[in-house]
This record gives sequence, structure tokens and C-alpha cells, in this order.
Amino acid sequence: MKYLSTRGGMPPARFTEILLGGLAPDGGLVVPEHYPRIDAATLASWRKLSYPALAFEILRLYADDLPEADLRALIDRTYTAQTFGSADITPLHTLEPGLHLLRLSNGPTLAFKDVAMQLLGQLFEYVLAKQGRELNILGATSGDTGSAAEYAMRGRRGIRVFMLSPHGRMSPFQTAQMFSLDDPNIFNIAVDGVFDDCQDMVKAVSNDLAFKQRYAIGTVNSINWARVVAQVVYYFKGFFAATEGDSQPVSFAVPSGNFGNVLAGHIARMMGLPISRLVVATNENDVLDEFFRTGRYRPRGAAETHQTSSPSMDISKASNFERFVYDLVGADAARVAAMWRGLDQRGEFDVAGTPEFARLREFGFVSGCSRHADRLATIREVRARYGVTIDTHTADGYHVAQPWREPGVPMVCLETAQAAKFADAIREAIGEEAPRPPGFEDLESRPQRFHRMAADVEALERYIAERCAD
Ligand SMILES: *Cc1c(COP(=O)(O)O)cnc(C)c1O
Repeated sequence: MKYLSTRGGMPPARFTEILLGGLAPDGGLVVPEHYPRIDAATLASWRKLSYPALAFEILRLYADDLPEADLRALIDRTYTAQTFGSADITPLHTLEPGLHLLRLSNGPTLAFKDVAMQLLGQLFEYVLAKQGRELNILGATSGDTGSAAEYAMRGRRGIRVFMLSPHGRMSPFQTAQMFSLDDPNIFNIAVDGVFDDCQDMVKAVSNDLAFKQRYAIGTVNSINWARVVAQVVYYFKGFFAATEGDSQPVSFAVPSGNFGNVLAGHIARMMGLPISRLVVATNENDVLDEFFRTGRYRPRGAAETHQTSSPSMDISKASNFERFVYDLVGADAARVAAMWRGLDQRGEFDVAGTPEFARLREFGFVSGCSRHADRLATIREVRARYGVTIDTHTADGYHVAQPWREPGVPMVCLETAQAAKFADAIREAIGEEAPRPPGFEDLESRPQRFHRMAADVEALERYIAERCAD
């Protein structure tokens, strides 16, 4: 498998060459030159596979420059009942016939990002060792991504994580989750400022090319291709769990932010998985809903980005979206490059009235928006009807899914986090505490370790340089 840029300006590269990178050199995103097609016989033969065996069959198609035995070993070490709570890894919970939750949030940080990030930790450690390199991962987080990255990279050889977060602004649960880690390769930096200050510091260090190179600075953000492709696996798993025959289509409802999760669903569909609808659910930050309804893509600025009770979907710009647009325009890289130039100049593009807009439905995409009151009502309703407490993000997906259900087509709602992570909203919705999974009871009372810092780029560079000298 060769990888290209959505904007056409990257020489073809192999999986291990793109694994550690971010954007393509031309500013585009890395995409595979084609999607492998899974024929009916192969699909049928995958139905009985365990999660790790299924993950191996899918990943070997994309990571074909890794020796198969090594890839299999990395996958087997990642997807264990010990890490994900059950051998199913992503168990399906049936609410009623034709309506299901696919539980993606049983990993160490109780959110779906663990599914891909845990594998990324194994892959990074393996490839860095092979290449005799080290990597210092620098990131900014307001919650989920940072903790998923830390739990994936903790204790790994050749990797350090420097994670910036706004001091005193994460929830107590999320703070405790990150700051209670005591692995010597994890560095939590609490910045006196807001999330944007943290992100600006990360950008400034990444733009300091001499520093970046000298200290091997890298990232694990949501555009990482390996993260996307690892997520393709659970769409297959969910399909098998929700159907009895291999020609019966299913639909998925996906709480969306950076478009990484639902992009994986799109890829599964391009590979031949019989998916009827991919329901893109947004919260009040409805950039994606606006696009799928009207054809207009208009990323928002920080001032127009709302803080909501489904905070992991509070995005202003969907960083993986360009990969889908590349497929939508028939892999025409020059067209994508022109669209993104237009985006830079005018702040938006619009495909209304073009043949591409008509094709959106051919790709199965539909969308909707869910607001705070919808989330609360949904959490109450699901609790009353099925005795299950879902989190605010999952509630957005469930709410938006309802009008898109079709007779005879199971609707699989992706559970992207556990309710325990968003205690305030759950209390507001149902007047009681969200259930906590075992092992998390005393989380907030564990000792915490972090370094407090002013929003000062030089101080950050000094801090990193000192830690790398050890
Ligand atoms: C990250 C996240 C999302 C959004 O996923 P994308 O891949 O960015 O679209 C939704 N829900 C939860 C709980 C998340 O952590």
C-alpha cells in the first residue's frame, strides 16, 4: 500500500514512513492510494473472528510493510480483556431489536479514543526501536485526547509525552486521570491560561524548526492515519454483532468533532461493508451538520466555538474532513488543493448545486444537530426506557439517529465515552451520580503530579530540553 497527499504534493510513501508524521509536506492529509475491497466470501469468513484477529486482517491491508508476525503480536498485545474489560473489546449492547449501542469506551480512559491510541502506542514504540530513534510527543489537551495519549504511551521506551492543559480548567475526573500517572516518561504541564494558550505554545515550539528537530518533537493528533485505520475495525465488529447475514445493511450514528471516527465508518463502507447510513451527529458546534445539509463548509473561529456539555465535540474545524472531500471529488488532488486555497482566502467553500453535493447521499452521509436540552432529555429517556445511563456525546448521537432509522436496518449508536466522565451533566439530567466502573472509585484522591508553568514558550522549551538530557 502506498500513501499520497490529498493535495497531490507528496511522493508515495509506505505505512511505516507516514506513521509518525502529521500533515503531508504540502499541507494536505495522508491517504491510501486506494481502499482494498472486501469481497462477500472474505466478509463472511471474518464474521467469526475475535477482535484482535479481525484487527489483524484489516490492518495488514494498510500496514503491509510491517512483518505480519510483528503486526499480529502488536495487535494481540493491544486488544486484551485486561485493557478493554472484555474479550469483545467493543461489545454490542442491544437496547431493543434494531437499536444498539456499540460500546467503544471500555479502555483505560473511558473514551473511544483509547481503541486507536492503545495500538498507536505499540506501533510507535516498535517503529522507533527499529529506526533507532526517540520521539518527544508534545500536545495540548482540554481532556480526552491528552489522557488517551498518556495512557497509550506510558512506560514506552523511546517516547516521552509533554502534555499541556489549562490549569484548573479540566474536570476533576479528567485532571485526576492525567495527573495521577506517575510514569517517568509522562510530563503533565498545567499552564496558567486557557486551552488556546496551550495550543499556541505547542504551535510555537513546532514552528521552531531547529528545536523541533534537535529534540525530535512529534504529535499524536487526530489526523494520524494509523488512528483512523484502527477505528475501521470496530465498524466491521459492530456490523457482525448487529446482523445475522452478511448482506443485511446496518447504519451507524457517530457523535462527531474532528471527523476521525465517522471517517473510519466511511472507509469501512468504501471497503465494501454494507452500511446504509452514516449519521453525523454534532452538538451546537454544527459545522459538519451545516455541510451535509447545505453543501457549505464554514469552519468557525474560537469566538464562535461554543462550550457545551459534550465538550469533546466542541470543534470549530474538522481536521479529518479533507480526507472525505478527497473521496467526494473522485481523488482529484488539484481540486482539493483549490478548495482549501479558497478556504484559506474566503474562510469557506460551498459545493451546493454541484454533482458532488448530489453524491453525498450516495456515500451514505446524513446529519443532524443536538443541543443541551436534547442531550439531557435523551439521557433521561434512555435511562427510563432501557435502564442504561449514556454520556452526553453518545446522547447526541442517539438523538440525531432517531429520524434516520429505517425498517429492517439496525441502527448502531457508537458510545464514545462513559457517563462517569461527565458527572455534572448526568446529575443535571437524571438527578443522580453516573455509575463508575470498577477501579475508578478513588481516582480523585490519588496523588497528583504536574508542573505548573506560565504561558511562556521559552520556559516550555527549557523544560523539555532539561528532561531530554537525562
Ligand atoms: C473525540 C471525541 C468525539 C469526536 O470524535 P471525532 O473523531 O473527533 O469526530 C466524540 N465523543 C467523544 C467522547 C470524544 O472523546
